[in-house]
Amino acid sequence: MLFFLRCLLIAAFDGCAQELKPGASLFGQHDYIEYIPGDLPLVIAVPHGGREKPAVIPDRTNGVVVMDANTQELARAIAAVLHVDTGRHPHLIICHLHRSKLDANRDIVEAAEGNSLAEQAWKEHHAFIEKACAKAVGQFGVAFLIDLHGHSHPDPRIELGYLHSALDLADCEEVLNSSGAIAASSLRWIVERGTPSHTDLLRGPQSLGAMLEREGFPATPSPRMPLPTEPFFRGGYTIARHCKSDKNVTGLQIEANRPRLRDTAENRQAFANALVKVLTVYLPLHLGVKIDKGKPLSEAL
Ligand SMILES: [Zn+2]
Repeated sequence: MLFFLRCLLIAAFDGCAQELKPGASLFGQHDYIEYIPGDLPLVIAVPHGGREKPAVIPDRTNGVVVMDANTQELARAIAAVLHVDTGRHPHLIICHLHRSKLDANRDIVEAAEGNSLAEQAWKEHHAFIEKACAKAVGQFGVAFLIDLHGHSHPDPRIELGYLHSALDLADCEEVLNSSGAIAASSLRWIVERGTPSHTDLLRGPQSLGAMLEREGFPATPSPRMPLPTEPFFRGGYTIARHCKSDKNVTGLQIEANRPRLRDTAENRQAFANALVKVLTVYLPLHLGVKIDKGKPLSEAL
């Protein structure tokens, strides 16, 4: 019966027979992928926070198989703060499969290694992201996608992946502001429609890195650290696939350090508060959509 109901929900999701209810979870097959629809222009995906290790899916034999600890909890904390502040929900897409079974931030071949159950979950994960972004675009004209991860690099800073490597970010301003670099950026939508330059968005005083640092969370790229030290995560498959200017989707991969950020519930709450405070400024400023506290939202500014 439960399976039948879930099929109905998926059918409704695909066929638009039933309106998605913000804040109410939907699940893909076998509950491997969870989608919590939202009514904000913000989509948060968590590909590496899953803990489920079903025996029917063999362990992956290549690539990284270590999970990003507590990123699922971090995303839920962010969503909870947003709901308290705005009365609305971000879209959340959570992969419950452990990374040893599926890596949803890789192409399907590397992600699932040919296992049909893992492939199905991978397809659902990305279909949910597409649906969430399309809903946000329909409602607000743009979607801001955060692919949320956790790194264990030696420097405990937040790494902001705009699809530029540390080597790319070492280029001079002229190169980084060229059409080629902008076309390769996950922030392309903003650069093409707004006034700040690409380098301002990457590391200027109104960049996400600058805003996070002002809230007490070291981040790179930022005015303090415009050039990340290696190792640095540039952003992966999900951001490259979904952040398309012609689809009105922009965003980035956020790699959160563990110490003093996602290690304890208290620290996750502090970061969630800070990120929501930052997004409340960043989204109106750069995307023209607001997520104001405590009052009804207009659909767009
Ligand atoms: Zn990750």
